[in-house]
Amino acid sequence: MTTYSTLDITCALCSQVTPQNVILSTNSYGWPDLDLRPAEMERSTLEFWVQRCSKCGYVSKDIEIKTLNAELALGSDRLKRVAFDSTGNDIQDRCLEAVIFYEYAEDFRNASDCALYAAWMADDQKKTKSAELYRAKAADLLIKYFDRSNDSYSGNTLSAVRLVDVLRRGGRWSECQKIANELCEFDLEKKIRAVVGFGIWAAYNCDSGCYTVEDALAFEKFPRKHGSWYDDVLVLSYTKGPVFDTYDDLTYWREENRRSHTIRKGAQGYQVYFSDGAVTANSNNAYRVKGDWIFE
Ligand SMILES: [Zn+2]
Repeated sequence: MTTYSTLDITCALCSQVTPQNVILSTNSYGWPDLDLRPAEMERSTLEFWVQRCSKCGYVSKDIEIKTLNAELALGSDRLKRVAFDSTGNDIQDRCLEAVIFYEYAEDFRNASDCALYAAWMADDQKKTKSAELYRAKAADLLIKYFDRSNDSYSGNTLSAVRLVDVLRRGGRWSECQKIANELCEFDLEKKIRAVVGFGIWAAYNCDSGCYTVEDALAFEKFPRKHGSWYDDVLVLSYTKGPVFDTYDDLTYWREENRRSHTIRKGAQGYQVYFSDGAVTANSNNAYRVKGDWIFE
């Protein structure tokens, strides 16, 4: 159960007091999505995650704390444009405004969080284009965070795991796989490794679907409920694609290919199966070649 209260909060920028809804307690049943979006009921508390002072327009996760350069952000054209190009949803606008304040403060991780919140809200409203736009922003900001801070992927595993998923959801396959493979070099906790491994596999299949941590853990339990890999391919109605003699030829083809697919290595070489619409491929054996998962 979620409980919240309306408290009088003093804005750190203008010192005026405004009422703000604050979560006192919540819980979540079930697994989060791979980008760490929590399950219900916490999922529905998103509207309380970003506050706006109605007196001066300061926006932050906690308006009692002033972010660096907040005055500059407040007077910026970028902030005015959010109001001008309003999404029609005040909570979403608030998240987008918070991105600007955090960017002015060079706090790129919090900026990325707020861009992702806006993407989640767009997902819920089935506004696909907006969701793509905000997700791309969230990814770019998180990349910037890792570039500028002393945090490595292993030092901030949760943010790195989130980045892998946000890139995959945005169809940025090679960036996703690069970071996921770098992460796999570290000694990761078992569940995190399963999530990252799933991300590599899904990106390899050009699969930008929304999955939960539970999906990733189930994936790790392969092999294999059914018969051979080929039986599974038939069951899942994959369609046969081209075959390549070498992995380099396959890689060259994949640069142009946009269809979801999976690979089976056999005596003939690397056989492509198009998996458009299919969710999982089972395999008797899976291994990696140059960072990609190959199923036998
Ligand atoms: Zn204020």
